[in-house]
Amino acid sequence: MPFVSGLKCRECSREYPAEALNVCDFCFGPLEVEYDYDTISEVISADRISKGPLSIWRYQDLLPASGENPVDIMAGYTPLLKAPNLGKRLGLNNLYIKNDSVNPSFSFKDRVVSVAATKAVEFGFETLACASTGNLACSVAAHAARAGIRSVVFIPSDLERGKVIGAAIYGPTMVAVDGTYDEVNRLCSEVGDNYPWAFVNINMRAYYAEGSKTLGYEVAEQLGWRLPEHVVVPSASGAMFTKIWKGFNELACLGLLDGVAAMSFGPDQNTVHHPAVTTRMHMAQAEGCSPIVTAWKEGQTQVKPVRPNSIAKSLAIGNPADGIYALRVINKSGGSGNTVPESDVVDGIKLLAETEGVFTETAGGVVISALKQLAESGAIKPDELTVAYITGNGLKTQEAVEGVVNPLMVKPTLSSFEEALSERTAIRR
Ligand SMILES: *Cc1c(COP(=O)(O)O)cnc(C)c1O
Ligand SMILES: [Zn+2]
Repeated sequence: MPFVSGLKCRECSREYPAEALNVCDFCFGPLEVEYDYDTISEVISADRISKGPLSIWRYQDLLPASGENPVDIMAGYTPLLKAPNLGKRLGLNNLYIKNDSVNPSFSFKDRVVSVAATKAVEFGFETLACASTGNLACSVAAHAARAGIRSVVFIPSDLERGKVIGAAIYGPTMVAVDGTYDEVNRLCSEVGDNYPWAFVNINMRAYYAEGSKTLGYEVAEQLGWRLPEHVVVPSASGAMFTKIWKGFNELACLGLLDGVAAMSFGPDQNTVHHPAVTTRMHMAQAEGCSPIVTAWKEGQTQVKPVRPNSIAKSLAIGNPADGIYALRVINKSGGSGNTVPESDVVDGIKLLAETEGVFTETAGGVVISALKQLAESGAIKPDELTVAYITGNGLKTQEAVEGVVNPLMVKPTLSSFEEALSERTAIRR
């Protein structure tokens, strides 16, 4: 059984049993999973983790669902790639790419959905559902197929083709809504009140969001149980951003980091900050939808909703559920908020592809362009250990980069080839 002691309201601290609940009855605050860390600390060790499965379930002691029989299509355990070529271009000598674009359904969403799907099956739900900006629909449909249950995915009707097909192939009931993601989400809240379905990011959200902690654990493990000095993370709802930070702090408090002494979690598990966690958390959003970064730049503690208009559709949440918590993490970690002009998104995609051989989607283009800004401004110093999180795959957002296609058009003869080649001065024999 997982080491969960219950759910707790992040605003008023009221406690709830570990059921399919999302908001506090009393203050409507979001609920977060509480763990029995004393027991976890007795069983967990780096050695035990290293002997676990090559998926997020190697960290099952720190996840809110049982790893006995998980809905597992092998999310996680993705490469942490040293990036010397991109580093050289940006003046960074110690740069890594966390390549989460190679997950089973090609985005980091497989981490959160594997946890939510496992929990949904555990609760006895027969339908897995979601409100999606695209990647979530793919992952929910894939995991439901694996679990042998039904899925219903709600998407904005203007999504990229690669995401629509990348979800439809698994056989979900797909609902294309004529509206923004925020409107899709509102509709799903109403649907959820009327249908007994497990909406991974609504009534299952507390469990679902915990899956993103594995993005923190994995990077630490892959660095030899050390933390980076900087991370650059794309945000939509802000949930992943807060959970990477939580993951780092859990590892530190449990004494799993190299040379770091364990520390009590104290009365408020979810805001604990171990002093050895000095990673600066940098958020990346595209200019066409940057409510959290805008709030950070203006020194606000609340996030003002916006109407998204961005090429980075996977980040297009105008009213981010975890915005205020993500703001606190930026501030607590000494990080920053970074907006990327819409016109720089494709440049970021191309730069990563041309330097490191990694083809990311628009969200990754936002991250690489933000990384470039941080390097240029000196916020990240040349020798500082930096990890850029690449969370989705470029084959799903082909529309954004169609302009790169420009082959030499030739007849099947050597002379035709040589004639065409000579017209492209850049290409030499
Ligand atoms: C959903 C998504 C994000 C943002 O995740 P949040 O937890 O909502 O901030 C980032 N990148 C990609 C590729 C996504 O699909
Ligand atoms: Zn409350």
